[in-house]
Amino acid sequence: TCTAASPAAGETATKVVESGLPRTAVVGVLGGGQLGKMLGQEAAKMGIKLKVLDPTPSCPASVVAEQTEGSFRDPEAVKAFAQGCDVLTVEIEHIDAGAMQEVAQQSGLEVQPTPETMRVIQDKYLQKQHFQAAGVPLPEFREIKCSKCAEGAGRAFGYPYMLKSKKLAYDGRGNAVVRSEADIPAAVESLGGYDKGLYAEKWVPFVCELAVMVVRSRDGSLASFPVVQTIHKDSICWTTETPARVPAAAQKAAQVVAEQAVAALEGAGVFGVETFLLPDGSVLLNEVAPRPHNSGHYTIEACPSSQFEAHLRAVLGWPLGDTSLRVGASIMLNILGEAGGEEGERRAHELMGRAYAVPGASVHWYGKAGVAAQRKIGHITIVGKDNEECRQRLRAMDPTAADAIE
Ligand code: ATP
Ligand code: MG
Ligand code: MG
Repeated sequence: TCTAASPAAGETATKVVESGLPRTAVVGVLGGGQLGKMLGQEAAKMGIKLKVLDPTPSCPASVVAEQTEGSFRDPEAVKAFAQGCDVLTVEIEHIDAGAMQEVAQQSGLEVQPTPETMRVIQDKYLQKQHFQAAGVPLPEFREIKCSKCAEGAGRAFGYPYMLKSKKLAYDGRGNAVVRSEADIPAAVESLGGYDKGLYAEKWVPFVCELAVMVVRSRDGSLASFPVVQTIHKDSICWTTETPARVPAAAQKAAQVVAEQAVAALEGAGVFGVETFLLPDGSVLLNEVAPRPHNSGHYTIEACPSSQFEAHLRAVLGWPLGDTSLRVGASIMLNILGEAGGEEGERRAHELMGRAYAVPGASVHWYGKAGVAAQRKIGHITIVGKDNEECRQRLRAMDPTAADAIE
């Protein structure tokens, strides 16, 4: 088990054990989906051993990482899994934060980002309160516990407003648009009822959505990747474009809000920050993910050091990499299961087949067990000399997506 770590990661890449021999750093990751897989692909290049804890047999990350089959929501499984790791981190926020806390306290193991950060972020209402207290600009929001509160939110915010689940939200599952007072019961029902834990958010009439991947080192210094413009389809991220096609001042405003939000958290790693750009040029925070993010996938091909490499460097306490753009522009297209089963798989492969014929396009297939409708099953990143060239390349493989971003 004594292997030299990659020299590319710098002097700190190798740790000296008692025998005096260098050994590979071991990073334990809660979750082994596509983000875990892409972390594993970078880890392999960097001479880092990646282990993942995931309940799904042969999870996407298992082809590049050592998988322990088990639940990241089970405290015992998390504690057992952490044994032998140099650092414990996550690729999903819906984990047992209490178990992470115990691991950190009992074994003294490095846990990044911190369990407290995980606890705050995994409850989107708590997250909103946290950022509001830190002075980060965000849409008005309030807790919803009963039909009276829901009607009160309608009077205060106007209609439509967005009703959101506090917990276990992703890809817009956990959001419901409330269009009128009469709409309240159906919206609440669709999210599982008041007991699930709900909050309301004022509707944001955004010009577009901008995301920023912010890397934070253990000592608290920050570095941001270039601002990304994201387009959602049915609340699921569909495409991203970098540089964002908004004025430089708007990009700067997004970066400022993103860094302000991350500075208000503890712990090292990449944070995916989603924001709304308003017509007056100001930016509001939407939410933060304490991990690499779908809107940062473009960094694999478009930056010298990807968001996944950046996350590994940060959680290990290594120097943060180069977060600049090394190409003129980049567009990412998510491969969403258009239909379930074989039909969905057939259509995804047709899209990938077209992508292989497009210069500057790279295909990422996650290897999830079976194709489900409206799920992210892969993505394609296009690089080119400028936005226009990327758009033309996108058009050659997916005219509908190209139309959507024009
Ligand atoms: P993710 O997959 O990014 O974790 P999520 O399920 O946590 O998503 P949100 O990010 O809260 O959901 O919302 C999903 C999308 O819905 C946003 O990207 C945006 O397009 C839209 N949306 C969310 N909140 C609002 C709002 N207050 N006003 C208008 N649109 C909104
Ligand atoms: Mg979310
Ligand atoms: Mg979101």
